[in-house]
Amino acid sequence: TPEISFRHVGRTYRGRSGYTEALQHIDLSIAQNEFVSLVGPSGCGKSTALMLMAGLDQPDSGQVEVEGKKVIEPSDRVGIVFQDATLLPWKSVMENVLYPARIRGIPVKRVEPQAAALLELLGLERFKDRLPHELSGGMRQRVGICRALAYSPRVLLLDEPFSALDALTRDEMNLLLLELTESLRQTVVLITHSIQEALLLSDRVLVMSARPGRIIADISVPFERPRR
Ligand code: ADP
Ligand code: ADP
Repeated sequence: TPEISFRHVGRTYRGRSGYTEALQHIDLSIAQNEFVSLVGPSGCGKSTALMLMAGLDQPDSGQVEVEGKKVIEPSDRVGIVFQDATLLPWKSVMENVLYPARIRGIPVKRVEPQAAALLELLGLERFKDRLPHELSGGMRQRVGICRALAYSPRVLLLDEPFSALDALTRDEMNLLLLELTESLRQTVVLITHSIQEALLLSDRVLVMSARPGRIIADISVPFERPRR
């Protein structure tokens, strides 16, 4: 079974000014350990597709599955990172990473070893007791990635995770992301505005078009990528 599948998925937003068909008849299959990028103009439905995968939104028609099971709510199977990691400002780095476990009543002991290992892997070990405002933007995004991966999810979803960072930090973060997801054998879906970034990082690039949201190209990236 594919890791993620969309079957005739449609999502229409109903607003005061009428309907927006954000996704129309999306059929999609993503294999385990695949690194897929979603590109396309603003408003073409990329975030909507990701929200459906995360169980943070529901389709109006069709079905979204992760590991063959219908996605009906957020779960530990899927981790998500947004453009802004929105850490809790009064909690330490480690506490931020453990926070989802605390609010879901998962024993922290079950998550802490993985959290510590991830913080080390991402070079944040020395900062685990610091507060978010003491970190740079790149470091805060790394904390967001640790938080998303602390539950060993099957799928990592990234919605323009590094777009707020300067170009140099972004390049560093991309390489780090590749190393990390390769070592964890992670299935990844990345939203990016940069086709260059998509080609550099992914096994496969999906191009979306607005009005209505559709996948208009599905490109396999045939060359060797760094460290993958
Ligand atoms: P991006 O292009 O980075 O996906 P958007 O500006 O399209 O960001 O969307 C940002 C947030 O606002 C999303 O959570 C999206 O669901 C919501 N949003 C986008 N368009 C509308 C709209 N027309 N009405 C209400 N919410 C919207
Ligand atoms: P993208 O991520 O590619 O920028 P989105 O998935 O955020 O696109 O949005 C797709 C379309 O749906 C856009 O036209 C956006 O304005 C609209 N939209 C997104 N979220 C909402 C919402 N909560 N309410 C109404 N319209 C929305």
